[in-house]
Amino acid sequence: MRAWENNVRKVVPYVPGEQPKDRKVIKLNTNENPYPPSPAVTEALRRMTAEPLRKYPDPTAGRLTEAIAAEHGLRPEQVFPGVGSDDVLAMAFLTFFNSGKPILFPDITYSFYDVWAELFAIPYERQPLNGRFEIVKEDYRKENGGVVFPNPNAPTGVELPLADVEEIIRSNRDVIVIVDEAYIDFGGTSAVGLLEKYDNLLVVRTFSKSRSMAGMRIGYALGNEDVIRCLNNVKFSFNSYTMNEAAICLGVAAAEDHAYFEETRRKIIATRERAKQELAKLGFSFADSKANFLFVTHRTCPARELFAALRAEGIYVRYFDKPRIDNYLRITIGTDAEMEALYDFLRRYLR
Ligand code: PMP
Repeated sequence: MRAWENNVRKVVPYVPGEQPKDRKVIKLNTNENPYPPSPAVTEALRRMTAEPLRKYPDPTAGRLTEAIAAEHGLRPEQVFPGVGSDDVLAMAFLTFFNSGKPILFPDITYSFYDVWAELFAIPYERQPLNGRFEIVKEDYRKENGGVVFPNPNAPTGVELPLADVEEIIRSNRDVIVIVDEAYIDFGGTSAVGLLEKYDNLLVVRTFSKSRSMAGMRIGYALGNEDVIRCLNNVKFSFNSYTMNEAAICLGVAAAEDHAYFEETRRKIIATRERAKQELAKLGFSFADSKANFLFVTHRTCPARELFAALRAEGIYVRYFDKPRIDNYLRITIGTDAEMEALYDFLRRYLR
């Protein structure tokens, strides 16, 4: 070991899902939207010129924060934009989880939470989901340095009812509670309405799933103006220009196209509901998902084997080799045609 290695910040990074180069693959492994971004985004892209790239972008991403605020009926001062919700969440961990007390999140959840906690040296305690993969709200009553959970949860897709979300926020008034709503647009009930009542709530959203813009990297947090100011103070101590000119321009175009947003999210919800029926017929079981994915286990076929067989067929899904979930596959909802190809293969393979 060389001497300088003693001083290195040692981290075990988050492992994102595979991004295969082969375009023929049916990609159901990273919860992307199978439909393209809004035509308004294509149009805005066509009109964009290189000239504005000469200058630094607006450090507040004002046009984008205004468009997002308008959509939620909030003030722009209640919106914090970032480079995908990963950037927003990381910034929120750094800003609000600074008490020295352990933060709480579920044992089965988005696997970036423990990575950020380790990176920022934030103590944490995982709270086990129950046997139906539900968050147990009573587990979040103990003393803590903050709370974070996705709703619906990932990779389970299970939604925590809004009354239970509120109870967790209410019983933790001394800390910030982050509700990560990456998948809320696929049928869940948002906590945004609770912002009026609770100044310790931070709701985090993304354009990556329901807006089909994972490649553009746009996420945001919604909260009380004081909470958002705290986030901005940390952000502006780190990197003033997180949102580039293209992200601002194309993000505004996406945010303003309500009709397309409604159309695509409805299509995905309909395909998901059909997938529940088809997969049940094929011998799979799963908790009820309100997200754009299903977390499934098969009656007889081990998940690891099925994952490999699907992959060999060019159908990519996600497998987590982790305690409690190593016999499950997370399948992103694709187009109807992609899902038919999946069912066809499964019918043959599981016969
Ligand atoms: N939260 C959850 C629960 C997620 O599953 C994801 C997607 N990996 C993210 C946040 C981050 O998404 P993005 O950075 O693309 O907004």
